Amino acid sequence: MSVNYRGRIAPSPTGYLHLGHARTFWIAMERAREAGGRLIYREEDLDPQRCKTEFAEGAIDDLRWFGCDWDEGPDIGGAYGPYRQSERYSLFLDSWERLKNAGHIYPCDKSRKDVACATQAPHTEDEASEPIYPESWRPPLSHGKTAERPGATNWRFRAPEERVIEFDDMRLGPCAFESLRDFGDFLVWRKDGLPAYELAVVVDDAAMQISEVVRGEDLLISTARQLLIYEALGLKPPEFYHTPLLCDTSGQRLAKRNRSLTLRELRAAGHTPKSLRQSQDWWSGIED
Ligand code: GLU
Repeated sequence: MSVNYRGRIAPSPTGYLHLGHARTFWIAMERAREAGGRLIYREEDLDPQRCKTEFAEGAIDDLRWFGCDWDEGPDIGGAYGPYRQSERYSLFLDSWERLKNAGHIYPCDKSRKDVACATQAPHTEDEASEPIYPESWRPPLSHGKTAERPGATNWRFRAPEERVIEFDDMRLGPCAFESLRDFGDFLVWRKDGLPAYELAVVVDDAAMQISEVVRGEDLLISTARQLLIYEALGLKPPEFYHTPLLCDTSGQRLAKRNRSLTLRELRAAGHTPKSLRQSQDWWSGIED
């Protein structure tokens, strides 16, 4: 890693942060420190239905309590505040336009539910493992090319045929995902007028010159999709380091709904950041 290392932590304020987030962000911070680089805090607050100020403020308080710190951002009373995706709309729109002009994306009136029904995939809350969009539903190549604005419809990225997306994960080593088998045409713009996660993350990571993305391994397939967006926009992708996921005692991956393992509740129950980092739960799953 070089001294130009730039990392980021990118919570979505849709609930209070749990121990799994804290561990991922801690690892992100340690990797930035070890490389003598910088860490950026980015609030992924694009979804007005799910994001709340209470959670956004709570995330900063909880992470500061936990010992996380970052090195760049707007001044909020002498400390670095977050960059907010909700304030960066024009950047996303610009990339939407470039992808559209190059024929990589198309407007699509099918909902997630339509796709799930068509493929009879089991319902999953995991954003990364969406059912595969049926190829027979794809419109002709020029469809949507003349649109001036995204409008009130979803837009999907055309997943290439016969393509394996390979990358070397900094923790897991070589990874490979096959387009149209591991994932299909994916959302880049939502009908509520906002960029979808995959597009917003790529545009922001590139604009912020992030050199390494540290995030949970539930997003491995998203990395393959995002590499296609980097390629389509002619952008250089960062390195990726996917962290192992924390599970609860029943083997379920931690989610924001597991209230007892939120940093807030753990703090109220008398845990200290140090005791949490030294606990077995913290380390289980981390190899090396
Ligand atoms: N905002 C996402 C989350 O909270 C993380 C996205 C990323 O790191 O790329 O799960």
